[in-house]
Amino acid sequence: MNGKANTEQAALVALQQVHSRIDAACANSGREPASVTLLAVSKTFGADRLIALADQGQCAFGENYLQEALDKQQQIAHERPDLQLEWHFIGPIQSNKTRPLAECFSWIHSVERKKIANRLNEQRDDAAEPLNVCIQVNIDRSPSKSGCLPQDAAALASHIAGLPRLNLRGLMAIPDPSDDPADQQRAFAAVRELFNAVRQELGTTHPDQASLMDTLSMGMTADLEAAIAQGSTMVRVGTALFGARSKPAK
Ligand SMILES: *Cc1c(COP(=O)(O)O)cnc(C)c1O
Repeated sequence: MNGKANTEQAALVALQQVHSRIDAACANSGREPASVTLLAVSKTFGADRLIALADQGQCAFGENYLQEALDKQQQIAHERPDLQLEWHFIGPIQSNKTRPLAECFSWIHSVERKKIANRLNEQRDDAAEPLNVCIQVNIDRSPSKSGCLPQDAAALASHIAGLPRLNLRGLMAIPDPSDDPADQQRAFAAVRELFNAVRQELGTTHPDQASLMDTLSMGMTADLEAAIAQGSTMVRVGTALFGARSKPAK
């Protein structure tokens, strides 16, 4: 096989394996596989790898680094204008870089403070669909980690609910890694409980916005089964789809 055929074959196999894991995890908890969306996390991988996956039916891609993401978006739009990809930003946000985020993505999973939400709202084009956002929660309350503290999530949700060009879809979390499935489940259960509490509280002030909250963005290559058992609706998977990342995180 030539290189391109190899890339396509590898993409198909990896995608099937990840879907098998998702299907099995759903079966274990009596859920419909269609209730879990697969977000392909493509940071550090080139446009050719995303295109290979897109040709196998994957359409949602998550990126962590703004400039890298914009370069890939441009390259793919140029090479393959037929592909309609959905772009999700899942990395830390610098407040002076919100404009391209508001303009070039459908989803932002990593909103953790009001100022960022305000800027995204101001910079989202009136003519575009509202920007889908998740509040990133620092569920372990680790001082060094991104995300708002769990006790601040409801106030931030209520603030976002008042911003017309944002749709609050749910919560995102990256719990501390653990090899113990029981630990993994405990952390994800805490995110699910917080999600339910936030949605219920929002329902009293912004019922329309509360009814849009349908997303628990949690679970990665190492812990997607535990996340699905605890209600994840969107797993963010990189390594299992693309292989190990060789470049250090920027
Ligand atoms: C890199 C990354 C992922 C994917 O992690 P894998 O372990 O490679 O599946 C998911 N979510 C976020 C926020 C990431 O930065």
